[in-house]
Amino acid sequence: MELETLAPRVSLYSASQPEKGNRSPDHRALRNDEFWKSLPGYAGINSDEFQTHIFQTRNSVTNVRQLRDTLKDRVPESFYEDVVEGIKHAPMALRISPYLLGLIDWDEPYLDPIRTQFLPVASQQLPNHPELRLDSLHEQKDSPVPGLIHRYPDKALFLPIDSCPVYCRFCTRSYAIGSDTDTVEKLKLSARAQRWDNTFTYIASRPELEDIVISGGDTYNLKPEHIQMIGERLLRMPNIRRIRYATKGLAVLPQKIITDHAWLDALTRVVELGRQMHKDVVVHTHFNHPNEITTVTERAMGKMTERGITVRCQTVLQRGVNDNSETMQLLVRRLSYINIHPYYVYFHDMVPGVEDLRTSLEAGLNIEKHVRGHTAGFNTPSFVVDTMGGGGKRDAHSFEHYDRETGIAVYTSPSVKPGVKFLYFDPLSTLDKTQQVRWQIPDERRLMIDTALNSTGGW
Ligand code: SF4
Repeated sequence: MELETLAPRVSLYSASQPEKGNRSPDHRALRNDEFWKSLPGYAGINSDEFQTHIFQTRNSVTNVRQLRDTLKDRVPESFYEDVVEGIKHAPMALRISPYLLGLIDWDEPYLDPIRTQFLPVASQQLPNHPELRLDSLHEQKDSPVPGLIHRYPDKALFLPIDSCPVYCRFCTRSYAIGSDTDTVEKLKLSARAQRWDNTFTYIASRPELEDIVISGGDTYNLKPEHIQMIGERLLRMPNIRRIRYATKGLAVLPQKIITDHAWLDALTRVVELGRQMHKDVVVHTHFNHPNEITTVTERAMGKMTERGITVRCQTVLQRGVNDNSETMQLLVRRLSYINIHPYYVYFHDMVPGVEDLRTSLEAGLNIEKHVRGHTAGFNTPSFVVDTMGGGGKRDAHSFEHYDRETGIAVYTSPSVKPGVKFLYFDPLSTLDKTQQVRWQIPDERRLMIDTALNSTGGW
């Protein structure tokens, strides 16, 4: 495979030279140094080697032994012990790219937003909210065939693969993605031709379906021939008008877009076929913090832009990562600057093992207030709650009821599941002590939930 050299470029703006006179000067200050060389394990790796998808994939860290080999004495022994304990309660296996490891501030690992998303530490974990569930969105209930979720009338989510280039601690699909952990035995959705055939048969049999999201797992882990085959089969169905490939890759391993020519060419062929057929083929990605965007991301997005590939971003709102207006404004401006459209900000799903990452609904609504109006409307994300129990995404403001004392919000979803009420719960740690005690008493808990449900009127 031909590899393009990725020597660091001289950037117009550097982190130490913010543009003067700009209201938000930092959004153009993309990191452009050899940041990975401060880690003992990567100190001797030059840019040509580090900045390739092959190096990144082969050297991804999947256990604490490899983490030690990479970081050595950059962190104290107590940090490794904290990670070992954290993994015991984590719903997701460990997998992090050298690129992400290099971007973490190892002088302050407990505060770093990238460490927070990918390496669990027991000292920060919190007890699960009593109402959260492993498959909190009820995806398996809405799956007519394994690995296809059909919830919205004209849209379905196809999960052809159950692996990813990295594993996020907070994955909504922790019931299926990655290998088993101490706390979760995964549903297996590996890449199998028979399962895919069953999915294509179902999609073709449902004329109301026009829009297919190909996700997983992560489409970065599909072979180029599978990217092309899946795209072509879907585009050739008369009912299908839009497809979206979902990948976190641009945020965690952007090198692949630049050096894996076969993968990008396969994606480009599907995009071009879609264009010829007057159908829409785009990529959806997932950045959560401005530090995830470097000049390597900018170069990868340059390739996508040259090929006319639209990229949209779905961000997750997370405590200690992006739960303040300044960080979210910077993320939105930085994404827009490299031609990624900020599309959604999701309130954190209610999945086990990551209660430390959730925010209250009120906190997120306040951030939204500051993001809206900060830049152009088409680059302003909608803040949404993906409701527990399968009601689908709701505008976060559209609750029928929200009690800030008990932390209970009630939503309805007339187009998806008419007549049903859906709940969202603030983390207990954001409530006052009296309310926290009430949540520990089963009868009180039931009373609070029933009161919230009964307080919503004509829905
Ligand atoms: S990349 Fe997406 S599917 Fe994979 S672990 Fe992260 S959130 Fe889950």
